Amino acid sequence: MRDACATPDLLSLEKALIQILDALPKAEHEELLPLRQSLGRVLSRSIQSAINVPSFRNSYMDGYALHSADHGEELLTLIGTSWAGKPFTGKVRRGECVRIFTGAYVPKYCDCVVMQENVQRKGDNIHIITSPNQHENIRNIADDTSEGQEILTQGTLLEAAEIALLASCGIAKITVFKRLTVGFFSTGDELVSIGSQLQLGQIYDSNRYAIHALLTEAGVTAIDMGVIPDTPEAVEKALLAASQHCDAIITSGGVSVGEADFITDVLDKIGHINLWKIAIKPGKPFVFGSIDKTFFFGLPGNPVSVAISFQQILLPAFKKMMGYKKEYSPLTLQATLAQTIYKQPGRTEFQRGIAENINDTLVVNSTGNQGSHILSSMSKANCLIILEQGSGDIEKGQTVNIQLLGNSL
Ligand code: AMP
Ligand code: MG
Repeated sequence: MRDACATPDLLSLEKALIQILDALPKAEHEELLPLRQSLGRVLSRSIQSAINVPSFRNSYMDGYALHSADHGEELLTLIGTSWAGKPFTGKVRRGECVRIFTGAYVPKYCDCVVMQENVQRKGDNIHIITSPNQHENIRNIADDTSEGQEILTQGTLLEAAEIALLASCGIAKITVFKRLTVGFFSTGDELVSIGSQLQLGQIYDSNRYAIHALLTEAGVTAIDMGVIPDTPEAVEKALLAASQHCDAIITSGGVSVGEADFITDVLDKIGHINLWKIAIKPGKPFVFGSIDKTFFFGLPGNPVSVAISFQQILLPAFKKMMGYKKEYSPLTLQATLAQTIYKQPGRTEFQRGIAENINDTLVVNSTGNQGSHILSSMSKANCLIILEQGSGDIEKGQTVNIQLLGNSL
């Protein structure tokens, strides 16, 4: 039996993503920031190092710097100390050596460092037990990066590793793309904000909290516009207000064809609708459009649909708008299904799963009830099980693709 929601006018997830990404502009507005503040931002220009790192030969170990030609001269005279930050700049002759510490300048004429564990010291006489090879225990000039080398390319996300690399090159300020500003609101007369008592028929609005968290995790400035009642006037007013100062707007709810679903009608009136049915489960009613220069993403109301459509569609869209160089393609892994999964062909399905390593095999279980209102399934899951659009039931023991959730996304 085919999926009853899979009507012929559905657009595949892949095609929808291509259309959405094509319609979105690339990032262009830049700003110069102190290095620390650039964490989580995207580089708008490639960066070259102005210096060699390391800029001088330095020691890998605490030990003694000497010349490898002195191998066999097992007794050397200690003539000074090179400390990290206090280099020994005197001349080292044959038969002589210098006490040296990790990170300290290796004096000229010395071409290796013997570990302190491999010598016996009596006053200024150093007896070498195990001779080092030439260059041993020395970090060379430009081992890490060289002067003029491009160390990071435009479109790189600045995480802790990139911040450290830039700092090691002495770069204090960098040019990044400006943050995106995304306004969001929920629609639905049944919704109550947390902090108030529920009356019969009401539910707490969880989507605004989910969307705020997802936007914040994605490095976007999130503007919460509250709950908007299910009337075309209220929806129109909120959309027009958001379009004045946001790069994009997200709404949840009101995009189906129910009597209280006004989003598409209003968007049609004040803006432009690009497409609105994607073959994805959960998350099928989905509106993409624009109002002037502001892009619009209308998500279904069901909380799990919000999370899945955000990850699968909005995140790639925002990444393009934020200037990321890499096409967004979350890593998929193959896992063995621990139980049969029932599915009707017609839509790409993202089931919530729990993956674990059992005897060196990645095994995945469903979290149970996959209803799009079961938020606890998102919290229990550590992965999404991806079931292809055309596939039907998948038997226990078969291999499926999974996408890890959390930091690996
Ligand atoms: P809708 O897409 O407006 O028809 O809503 C579909 C389902 O999602 C309904 O059960 C709504 O009550 C629920 N829902 C809509 N908006 C929210 C929200 N902001 N938070 C939690 N559930 C919601
Ligand atoms: Mg509704």
